[in-house]
Order: sequence, then structure tokens, then C-alpha cells
Amino acid sequence: MSDINVLKEYYVRYLRDVRGVKLSTVNHYLGAINVVSKYLSDSGKIKKTIYEIDELAELECIREFLFAQPDFVEKDERGNRMYSAGINNYIRFATGEDFGNIGNSVALMDIEVPISSKQTVTIENWRRNGIIKKQSIELASFLCEIDSAHKTFISASTNEQYMEGHHAIPFKEQAHFKVSLDVYANIVCLCPICHRMLHYGIKNDKETVLNKLYSDRAERLAHSGIYLSKDEFIEKAI
Ligand SMILES: [Zn+2]
Ligand SMILES: [Zn+2]
Repeated sequence: MSDINVLKEYYVRYLRDVRGVKLSTVNHYLGAINVVSKYLSDSGKIKKTIYEIDELAELECIREFLFAQPDFVEKDERGNRMYSAGINNYIRFATGEDFGNIGNSVALMDIEVPISSKQTVTIENWRRNGIIKKQSIELASFLCEIDSAHKTFISASTNEQYMEGHHAIPFKEQAHFKVSLDVYANIVCLCPICHRMLHYGIKNDKETVLNKLYSDRAERLAHSGIYLSKDEFIEKAI
């Protein structure tokens, strides 16, 4: 499988399938991102495309850089601000700000994602996509997916209840799969206690939680090319 940009694939599905944006408008947004990507790679800021950026903070820096370039600002004004609209819209998607009201439509975005060549080099290089993790927490509306009543504290960066993203099937299992494990279907939003328990708890407690996660996620994992029986899931996730 060739390299794809997972965030681009998710963005297109988000606009088209989840938000029902007209195809012509989707293409308009993507076209703007392409122009901005070209500008950024010509300036040596990115390799090829904006979709390669996997941390929100980096994306914000890139936006700041763009708006500080007089030639970019002029080009944007000539183009009726389509480039700034394109980048702003994409960053809004990346923050996951609007993911709280998506609900089950998130399943429309579940796709098989090839393991990128970057990921296949060494296990140490399997880098988690911070944007996808952040979006997954927004998706769950900052509620623990084991029990939505679990309370934590207010996070200074989001002003919402503090939660953590967890890969149900851990990255150390990546070598056993032909598709990426860094996908929406495999990331769950957990309170820190449930999260630490899944990493450091006793087998019995973990199994109870993993049974629930399996019934919640098995179908979506399959849509993402991750086919596991309940026993296989528990064996890999425990
Ligand atoms: Zn974890
Ligand atoms: Zn919890």
C-alpha cells in the first residue's frame, strides 16, 4: 500500500460524510490547502503537505508563520481570503472542536489506514498522531468511555474535564497488523484512573473493562481493517 495522509483522508470524510458539505465546496477547501502546502514547502517549513503535521501546536505555528508573510497575506486577499479560510477550516477540524456533536457518525470515518513508511522503520519510530488523539477526546465529549460518571479535574488547556487518549490495541502490537493502529476506532477517551488501570491494573479488572471496549468498538475496528475475535482483542489489549 502506498503512503496516504491519514489526516487528509479523515478530513475529506469529515466534510463530505459527517458534515454533508457539497463536493464542490470540499474540493475548494482541499485546493486551498494544496496551495498553502506548496507555499509552505517552498518556504522550507514542511516537507510536502500540511496533512503531514501531527501535532496541533505545530499547526498553530504554521498558521502564525503564514499570516506574518506579506506576500502570503497579499495572495490571500487577491483570492478573496480563500487560503486563510482553507487553513482555518482545516485547523478547526484538527482541534476536534466540533467533534463533540458528531456522535455515531464518527463511524463514517472509519477506514483502513496503511502503516506509513515512517512507521515501518523501527518500533521506536511509531509515532502517535497527537491530532487524532485530541480529536478522539473531543469526540467523547471529555467523558470517560468506561463510565461517563467518572470525574477528574478541569484542564487548563481545554477548560474541560481532563481526559487521556488510549490506544486499545497498543502500538507494540503494530507489527502484527497490516494496517495502522493509530486510527479513531482504536483510540478511546479515558479518565486517568481507568487509563492507568488498563496499563498497570490486575488481569481481572482489565478484562472487565476490555469486554466493554470490545463490544463498543469491534465493528468499528473491523471497518478500519482490524479484525479480532473478543479473545484475540483481550489478549492483545491486556
Ligand atoms: Zn494508554
Ligand atoms: Zn474512567
